[in-house]
Amino acid sequence: MFIDFHTHHDRQSPDLINLQTLDVTSQLKTENLPDLCSLGLHPWFIQDSSWQAAWSNLEALAELPQVVAIGECGLDRHIDVPLALQIEVFIKQIELAEKLRKPLVIHCVKAFAELIAIREKTKSRIPWIIHGFNKKEAVWQQLLNHNFYFSFGAAILSDRAPVVQAIATIADGRFLLETDDRIDITIEQIYDRAAQLRKVPVSTLQNQLLETYSKLTRN
Ligand SMILES: [Zn+2]
Repeated sequence: MFIDFHTHHDRQSPDLINLQTLDVTSQLKTENLPDLCSLGLHPWFIQDSSWQAAWSNLEALAELPQVVAIGECGLDRHIDVPLALQIEVFIKQIELAEKLRKPLVIHCVKAFAELIAIREKTKSRIPWIIHGFNKKEAVWQQLLNHNFYFSFGAAILSDRAPVVQAIATIADGRFLLETDDRIDITIEQIYDRAAQLRKVPVSTLQNQLLETYSKLTRN
């Protein structure tokens, strides 16, 4: 069994757990949801006051059993939305995820210090999984110390990516794998590369990640 922990695409295969991520809007309905998804309010789509209607809808839909995680949500210093507003919307999603006991899938760009501070301040107990992680060792070590989890994607296919070291050495149980928005790569390729870097057979990695996924989503 392969698990694509974060993808924007609908893929169906008997040996694939495809956790499709959707950005909530005010119009999104239960029948639009795939059988398995993560649902959140991405910082890119927080505009003035229109996010509030989307938020109300998220509160309603997030309770559904097919929504196994909240996100992607988080902080992004590369966009025009004020960081204070991003933090406000992020904290609402943390509280929602905490109430529902569902894990958070996090998008974070150049705001790791704020992310750690928020985790400390909220005393959140659900798993926080940073998706598309591709930062240098000092950053992931610090995040590990604060009990974060990671989802690694296409970056690990490159020899020069800072996360190649992370994927080679990080402890079992602390990470998952993903394809994100890429359609030119498959989750099998990501597993092959991760298994090669960790010097384990793909089947071992598959079992480990299934266990991690089940633990994080309680599924
Ligand atoms: Zn994504």
